[in-house]
Amino acid sequence: MLNDKRIAAIVPAAGKGERMGGKIAKQFLEINGKPVLIHTLEKLSSMPEVDLIVVAAGEGEIDAVKAMIVTYRLQKIKDVVVGGGHRQDSVWNCLRHLTESEADIVLVHDAVRPFISRELVIAVCNAAIEWNAAIPVVRPKDTLKTLNGGGFVLTTLDRDAVAVVQTPQAFQFSLLRRAYLRAMEEKFYGTDDASLVERCGGRVKVVDGDHSNIKITTPGDLVLAQQLMGRGEMSR
Ligand code: C5P
Repeated sequence: MLNDKRIAAIVPAAGKGERMGGKIAKQFLEINGKPVLIHTLEKLSSMPEVDLIVVAAGEGEIDAVKAMIVTYRLQKIKDVVVGGGHRQDSVWNCLRHLTESEADIVLVHDAVRPFISRELVIAVCNAAIEWNAAIPVVRPKDTLKTLNGGGFVLTTLDRDAVAVVQTPQAFQFSLLRRAYLRAMEEKFYGTDDASLVERCGGRVKVVDGDHSNIKITTPGDLVLAQQLMGRGEMSR
């Protein structure tokens, strides 16, 4: 089912990574001497299902990213485009770069999630082929509460009714482009790609995510990533 579909991956890597606290954006921090972005791109480009990759980088970082792509001999990178102020702007700049003849399915994946597995890519793409839009989720392990903003609890949520959302998220190309066009026209900013599809009335299928598919956001996440890599998680 997946073999006759063209899959284009979009990798937004234009964030500033303010939550990491340092000067270097988190996608350029190194694990085992290699930038997080490169770990992620190596994983994606090694997957036979992925046909091409478009990366968004900050304006001043495009040449450096292009040089890294050469150094690490990364295949399948169609282009490195300039990112925008929000993640959504960065993804949109990549999406605008793709034509319908290049992709049936678009996979959007954060540069800062280097533990993406081929199994997850296959699961999410197969679900997108069947349902048009699909995202990986994991169930929260902790109890979730809403807060009143003044330091007190408002309500306790039903844990079975909520999920923690990851990337890669996969969409039929035309559906994602329609959803992005509308959001950008209306200046709506969502916190993930699927929320733009939901806003257009699109149904989004969920598949099982992976607790080790962590998003490197804080210094603690980098330590965890180093430990996971030590356990061989990177070679999957
Ligand atoms: O900031 P956040 O954790 O949501 O970033 C998720 C991904 O989106 C990261 O890979 C980051 O580099 C990217 N991003 C981007 N352009 C922005 C903000 C974030 O490409 N303006």
